[in-house]
Amino acid sequence: MSINVNNNTMTHSAECLRKAVPLMVKYNIAVTPSNYALWYTYVSGNHPKLNEKLNKALKQFGTCPPTLSRELFEEFLSDKDLELYDEITTTISELVSHFQQDVDLTLDNTKDFSAALNECNQDLDKMQQDGASSTDILNLVTKLSEESKAMQSSAEKFQDKLSTAYQEISRLQDELAHTQQAATTDALTGLLNRGTFDSDIQLLCDNNSSKLKLFLTFVDIDHFKLFNDNFGHKKGDKVLEAVADKLLKNSNQLNTPYRFGGEEFCILSQANNMNEASGYAEKIRLDIERIIIKDNKSGKNLHNITASFGVAEYFNETPDTFVEKADSALYKAKENGRNRVELC
Ligand code: GH3
Ligand code: MG
Ligand code: MG
Repeated sequence: MSINVNNNTMTHSAECLRKAVPLMVKYNIAVTPSNYALWYTYVSGNHPKLNEKLNKALKQFGTCPPTLSRELFEEFLSDKDLELYDEITTTISELVSHFQQDVDLTLDNTKDFSAALNECNQDLDKMQQDGASSTDILNLVTKLSEESKAMQSSAEKFQDKLSTAYQEISRLQDELAHTQQAATTDALTGLLNRGTFDSDIQLLCDNNSSKLKLFLTFVDIDHFKLFNDNFGHKKGDKVLEAVADKLLKNSNQLNTPYRFGGEEFCILSQANNMNEASGYAEKIRLDIERIIIKDNKSGKNLHNITASFGVAEYFNETPDTFVEKADSALYKAKENGRNRVELC
């Protein structure tokens, strides 16, 4: 069974998190995605058996040891719960910042309380010096003053713990965002990668309800092996970056470019007709023709970069067939002399 933040109301999720965070702080639980999932589930009460085992550990050890946390996660939760982690952490960081405001306020109040009591204490001291015997009252106030100091110190400690937790959450969020970015994009060009293309094309083929038609364009740099052989792999990488830049500059909500692999790119497009889709490809072809790759020393243009294009229209087929069609259009473009757009 998974956490399922989506199905619960946000208020319920927020309530669970509101309870989970201080518990984790209280029991010194490391701020990791799986621990969050575990404690979120604990407070949501969805797994009575999990709660039973956690309660037992808390009673025995005063915390939940890491090995047991891992075992509990494996027994009661799944990796799917971790997928919801970013959703959870976003809510958490908002909650923690509210928490911090609350604690700041408590701390201020406590300080005020302490100051007031000190003042009162001094007044009573003075009263005593003036001959008014009020030992009992003085004792009481001294005791109260000490308690308030203890309260202030524990509130400060609590705030320290919360602020550490907050920092860890922020760090985890950054790491998570970074990991997600790395998983979906190509490091060299910054374009979406092959994995993202595979899932996007599947999604588009499965939900093709748009009034616009779906098109796939393959883009393959011409004679790129020769370029690498002549000018080196590093310069070759510059060409890939420059081509990706042209694809990105021409991208919009209806046209998404990807690095398919090596020196091949592709674009998933939504357009009214083939004319529009191939016109878009033609525009990019001309943009790529204008790329200038200079020699570092002489500053002269090294080589004209060109690319061949194959465009296919989607007709209720599998993604594989759709890809094969665009690929065969690209093959035609290569066959017919390169630096051109061919259709399927
Ligand atoms: P064609 O016009 O028929 O496409 O010829 P081509 O030379 O472009 O095609 P081929 O498939 O023979 O060679 C592709 C080359 O792309 C070979 C490979 O070294 C190069 N390549 C693939 N990935 C990278 C990369 O990340 N960086 C660089 N610099 N080169 C790459
Ligand atoms: Mg090529
Ligand atoms: Mg190729």
